[in-house]
Amino acid sequence: MAVNGFYVSKISDLSLKEFVLARQEYCHQYHLKGCTECMRLISAAKCILTKNVVKLQSVYVDHFLNKGSRYKSDKAVKWLMQLPVVVFPVKQHQRVALYVTESEGIQCSKIENLIQNLLEMQERKASELSKATLSYVIWPVQKQTRN
Ligand SMILES: [Zn+2]
Repeated sequence: MAVNGFYVSKISDLSLKEFVLARQEYCHQYHLKGCTECMRLISAAKCILTKNVVKLQSVYVDHFLNKGSRYKSDKAVKWLMQLPVVVFPVKQHQRVALYVTESEGIQCSKIENLIQNLLEMQERKASELSKATLSYVIWPVQKQTRN
């Protein structure tokens, strides 16, 4: 599903943590040892869990892109939509970068405005939106302190 540059995974009944466990179990039961597809999805999910908010391009290049292949955002979105995540655009200096975060508990419609406002506020100070700022904007406080 794509709305205003947002992509929301159809998986809505699992958190990322639960996805990792479920996929590991499923792969163990039904797939051959050394299954690369599940390995890629699981390692990407773990990466997003650790960092909270990641650039789509970096998570795709690190976990899915074959050596020698070129990065394409539509392919990246397709892969990432197999995880319970949301992909959203952030406008920075006339360019739009796509970011990924866990979809559980996220209110998509609010993220974009919040981030845009924050970016305008820190425009002169920082050349790049810090990950800490992004995480803070997106994740409710109780979620940050839960882990
Ligand atoms: Zn597998």
